[in-house]
Amino acid sequence: MNEYDVDATGRGEPERAEAAARALATRLQGRLIRPHNEQYDAARRVYNALHDRHPALIVQAAEVADVAATLAVARDTGLSLAVRGGGHSVAGYGTCDGGLVLDLGGLNDCRIDPEARTLRAGGGATWADLNRAAAVFGLATPGGIVSTTGIAGLTLGGGLGYLNRRFGLSCDNLIAADLVTAEGDCLTCREDANAELFWALRGGGGNFGVVIDFEYRLHEVPDILGGPTFYPLDGEVIRRYRERIGEAPETLGALLAITSGPPLPFLPEAWHGRPMVAVLSCWSGPEAEDAWVGEWLADLGEIVGQALQRMPYPVINTLFDELLPPGLHHYWKGCFSGPPSDEAIAVHLDFGARLPSAETATLLFPLDGACRRIEADATAFAYRDADFATALGPSWTDPADSERNIAWGRDYYHALRPHTDGGGYVNFMADDDGHRVTDNYRQHYDRLARLKARVDPGNLFRLNHNIPPAPPG
Ligand code: FAD
Repeated sequence: MNEYDVDATGRGEPERAEAAARALATRLQGRLIRPHNEQYDAARRVYNALHDRHPALIVQAAEVADVAATLAVARDTGLSLAVRGGGHSVAGYGTCDGGLVLDLGGLNDCRIDPEARTLRAGGGATWADLNRAAAVFGLATPGGIVSTTGIAGLTLGGGLGYLNRRFGLSCDNLIAADLVTAEGDCLTCREDANAELFWALRGGGGNFGVVIDFEYRLHEVPDILGGPTFYPLDGEVIRRYRERIGEAPETLGALLAITSGPPLPFLPEAWHGRPMVAVLSCWSGPEAEDAWVGEWLADLGEIVGQALQRMPYPVINTLFDELLPPGLHHYWKGCFSGPPSDEAIAVHLDFGARLPSAETATLLFPLDGACRRIEADATAFAYRDADFATALGPSWTDPADSERNIAWGRDYYHALRPHTDGGGYVNFMADDDGHRVTDNYRQHYDRLARLKARVDPGNLFRLNHNIPPAPPG
């Protein structure tokens, strides 16, 4: 129990909610939304429909002062606080029952300095916002594979996507972050200022405060060759991918997926809905070498369908947006590991052959190249020695299918875990049994807990993969 945890369920807090509403009414530039307001239903919903929660108050921040005011009110009233960036949290941490939601979605401004090749983005920006701004100058930084995901949660947990092998994780490209702490202090964190906090923000999640501004390093990324290539569900394809991805140039981002054949024209109808292996590639090397990419993909196995094309980088970031619209249910698990062993591949084939829904996918993100060149202790991201981050991702439409999808995800995770490094990527983790936060942060856990005790001793920021403050002494 901590200082703010007056009611663990967050329900039955009407007096505190009233007091908070009164205090906020005079202090906000942005909007305060309560259950009786017309906008409430739209404002309370998050991307993952599995988390259908009813906060007492929602603040849609319009300026940084709204963030400080909301934190002060959460502190003073003891209401539980959910901080929402893009609202994509797999674990549903961008909302809560009965408490106070701080929605940063209005703070999504992206300002670019093309000469310095840097970009500053508000804490509520999505990858679509950031990519659009950077692409005007032919620039980009590593982000996720779905454009509606928030830059905040994704970067604070690490940041996996197509450009990792070439430029590192999203957090490796963070130059600075402006943070509002639990006490309401506004701090700039960089290598040479508040360095310990800057270290923690690169992998330690939302435990340390609200980031109102992220500054990223950008890279020249002209048009890329990208899109999915589909193969039959065959262990040999996975084995060849395992052996060849590490030898491919770092300009090849290539994730391996196990998913259902989508009902799209590039795939023969007989394969629609059948479990398949796919490689999602993003070649950011020279156009003259596009043919080599085609050969590399053909070498992995028999291609059943392929939708490779040249496109601006932001477009590849939107390719799966339609297949993964807001309102689906998601229950994911994550693992870090070396190259998948034959035993691990057997587990993937077993669960892949009985996918519980059309939207479900297993994804393997390679973590070699530039991700590996960062020292193990340079950031809070704890798995620099892993070769792959795996997402086991049941996603489905109908709530009646929840039990079946969740059971499949849990069983898969327990079957695969003996073949992994123990912990998982926090951003892929549902919030329940089967994993421990200590495993996810490994050797960095104690250092993070000591910092937490210093900057957030009351654990105001606890709706996240929580690192409770270390006990004194
Ligand atoms: P939110 O729900 O807004 O927040 C997530 C967490 O971050 C919460 O704990 C929240 O309190 C905290 N937080 C949010 N904003 C701030 C802020 N400004 N300051 C401090 N804390 C904050 N991950 C990848 O790495 N690569 C991918 O390609 C990828 N693809 C995904 C695709 C889908 C469809 C989904 C559902 C998730 C995906 N993820 C991916 C996982 C994603 O990184 C996490 O869900 C991430 O937390 C989303 O960030 P958000 O800001 O949208 O989420």
